[in-house]
Amino acid sequence: MCKLATGRIGNDPADAAGVLTDAADAIVGIGAELRTNEDNEPLTISARTLVYSRRVLTRAIEGLMAGIWVCPCGEPHRPDADPCTLVQGLTADLNVVGGWLAAPNERPGDQR
Ligand SMILES: [Zn+2]
Repeated sequence: MCKLATGRIGNDPADAAGVLTDAADAIVGIGAELRTNEDNEPLTISARTLVYSRRVLTRAIEGLMAGIWVCPCGEPHRPDADPCTLVQGLTADLNVVGGWLAAPNERPGDQR
């Protein structure tokens, strides 16, 4: 995702930098938990790290599906088609960190 966000720096530097910063925070947070994990115990990921992770994954999925981010999968992207393999994988990752995509007809969270 960092590479995909970097590809947007020329078009929207502030947005790309925000995604990259969140991605770095998520990676460091998850890395710290993995490094301190002993005996393969279940990981406890901090809420802050989960927020960063969810935000980056959501932004990537939305950017890829809208065609704002260039998807490297090589599969056709059509609005009426199923998401490509990469987007499906990112969506699965989003579910792992407790996030989900809003349905197209759902109002944004701050308008509910
Ligand atoms: Zn794709």
